[in-house]
Amino acid sequence: MDLGIAGKRALICGASKGLGRACAESLAREGADVTICARSEPALDEAAAAIGALGGGRVAAVACDIATDAGRAAVLAACPNPDILVNNAGGPPPGDFRDWERDDWIKALDANMLAAIFLIKSTIDGMIERGFGRIVNITSGAVKAPIGMLGLSNGARAGLTGFVAGIARDKKTAGRNVTINNLLPGAFATDRLMGMFDEDARTKRMMTIPAQRFGDPSEFGELCAYLCSVQAGYITGQNVLIDGGAYTGTL
Ligand code: NAD
Repeated sequence: MDLGIAGKRALICGASKGLGRACAESLAREGADVTICARSEPALDEAAAAIGALGGGRVAAVACDIATDAGRAAVLAACPNPDILVNNAGGPPPGDFRDWERDDWIKALDANMLAAIFLIKSTIDGMIERGFGRIVNITSGAVKAPIGMLGLSNGARAGLTGFVAGIARDKKTAGRNVTINNLLPGAFATDRLMGMFDEDARTKRMMTIPAQRFGDPSEFGELCAYLCSVQAGYITGQNVLIDGGAYTGTL
């Protein structure tokens, strides 16, 4: 299927590794011109070169922290009018909420809620004017099934999820072919997840998932590209789980 996004401008945050990078690869393969960002330069440069070698759209890279005003200004200077925006940043650490101070909460909100909200604010009116826009926020399966020790993530991502549910249904947005969806990963074999377990624990964790394996980041990237496609124009305001069957509810 041709997703119809060749030549579209895509801005993908947190994209030197893991799920963000997989989204950038899938979008570039479809011919979108991608601007990627991440905090550390060597990994970002390596990712940009590898994505460029796929032979799809053009690739630009900006080393910055997307959780800051300066970081967002830098990516928007490189890609001022994206047609596609993928919001992503590293998740906050786990822990006991009794140990978290205001600063811990502010960091989580900056990275996993406000960065996405401010990038949406800066880009959505251009999408509305042009009559095409696709926004995908990478959140977490924990939005549907919160896990106690991930309190910082649960709180920040719930805030983003509620905000998106409201604006996605604005007729000025949905009525102008601008969609906003959240993509909720279960367990994916990224550096971050693999770094959490030794081999024994990894196998045990995998066996708790009905699919009996971790997700491959490329599966996530392909679903992201579909949500950014011309064909997905009637899907908006959704929380789309991709978790190998791990979530047991019906809604
Ligand atoms: P990862 O650590 O493999 O990759 C994260 C990428 O984002 C890297 O390129 C990193 O440099 C970049 N990044 C992190 N913080 C940034 C910032 N402030 N500014 C710019 N770039 C930044 O992580 P991942 O596994 O791909 O996870 C991506 C998101 O999905 C995280 O929020 C994570 O909590 C969430 N998530 C992941 C899984 C999983 O199984 N991998 C499951 C649930 C939720």
